[in-house]
Amino acid sequence: MESTSLYPPLGHGEVLQGLWDAARSDRLPHALILHGPEGIGKYHAARWLAQGLLCEGGPGEPCLSCGPCRRVQADSHPDLFLVDPLAVGQDRMTIHFIVTRENRPKSAYSGPSIENFLRLRADEGGWRVVCLRDVDSMNENAQNAFLKALEEPGENTLLLLTSARPDALLETIRSRTVSVDLSRLSMADTLHILERDALLPGLEEPAQREVLARWSLGAPGKAMKLAKSGGVPMRAMIVDLVAGRLLPDEAGPAFWELDGEFPGKTPAAQRRTRSAALMDLALEWLLDGRRQAARVPLESLAHGGVLEPLGGVPEGALESCMDCILQARQDVSLNLSPEILTERVLRSLADLSGHSTAAVRRP
Ligand SMILES: [Zn+2]
Repeated sequence: MESTSLYPPLGHGEVLQGLWDAARSDRLPHALILHGPEGIGKYHAARWLAQGLLCEGGPGEPCLSCGPCRRVQADSHPDLFLVDPLAVGQDRMTIHFIVTRENRPKSAYSGPSIENFLRLRADEGGWRVVCLRDVDSMNENAQNAFLKALEEPGENTLLLLTSARPDALLETIRSRTVSVDLSRLSMADTLHILERDALLPGLEEPAQREVLARWSLGAPGKAMKLAKSGGVPMRAMIVDLVAGRLLPDEAGPAFWELDGEFPGKTPAAQRRTRSAALMDLALEWLLDGRRQAARVPLESLAHGGVLEPLGGVPEGALESCMDCILQARQDVSLNLSPEILTERVLRSLADLSGHSTAAVRRP
């Protein structure tokens, strides 16, 4: 896993400083949930917070040069336990991350559990910290097992949870954690982070980085995800169809050729993922069109800069296009042919161009 903790997390400095101050005066609760939109760097902030607690000069901004700091950076600090299911090839935080069970399925996570970690004493005599990424991926079973850790974490122990959807957690967990809100980043900070990763596919061009920073509304992680999954060219295709600049017969082949990562175990599954990505994106864009019609300020809309083709499209036409895409979205999850469903969606989008006052008329 690439280490992102070499950089201080942009945009969250004040919040972290407040938490280190609280730790210095013994007011830090034993369980925090860093909460905020997807892709703003919550887990990164959690790790930085932990490093600042473990640092020899801490609690405070990590010095980056002491022994504990270097061990955190190398992912080898004995008092820091990271629970990041994606990093170990698991798609959710199963109960096996929480407690160690004798009988577990072969494909399940088999590394050390939180239970194991909390049984040990602090190796370096200071804090013990557990960082958990996206805790809302725990099912009820896992959450119930985790409750025990929350109830008796032990001395000088901090459980640091992150989540974009804390509502998905059991009330018993939420009531035992103190929520800390993290905000979206400024446009400048978002661009700065994207520039750092300008070697990644989809982020090479400054113009593309601008588009993505605007689109993500200050969530660089989301911008990177969009870059990886062909979000920019895919959205351009949707916009061009409704603007009459592209015909469905041209869009179809181009869509299946688009560069991007579309996860799936088989080629058929990858085609379904690709098709579903188009549908989700089209729905998101049309929804923003409806918000625009309801006079929501454009700058607060992710797609605010590219809604022009929806000008003049009547509410009814927008609704029936969305219904068509929603239906196709359900069907693609049911394993119906993604090719046929994609074509249906492309045609339905192109039909809107008949209403659009901004559309280019082609012979
Ligand atoms: Zn240090």
